[in-house]
Amino acid sequence: MNCNEFQHWLVTRDVFSNETPEALFHIKTCAACKRLYVMDKGLEIKIQSGFTCEELPKNLVRWIDMALDQEMEQARKKKEKSL
Ligand SMILES: [Zn+2]
Repeated sequence: MNCNEFQHWLVTRDVFSNETPEALFHIKTCAACKRLYVMDKGLEIKIQSGFTCEELPKNLVRWIDMALDQEMEQARKKKEKSL
């Protein structure tokens, strides 16, 4: 797969289908296309979560951080109990 083929794949692929091995290999070997792919992915994630407003993702990140902290704290407590 070359850059043209990759970019064609990127714009024509089905959002819900998985990356092809050829595409993944090209991402690994081509920094320019990797950037395109990451940008494309970032956009898709935003669209899928319904966060079109710029304010929301910041809150979402904070919320995820808090949830992760809680999760890790609970896991730590469980581990202490089991020891
Ligand atoms: Zn490329």
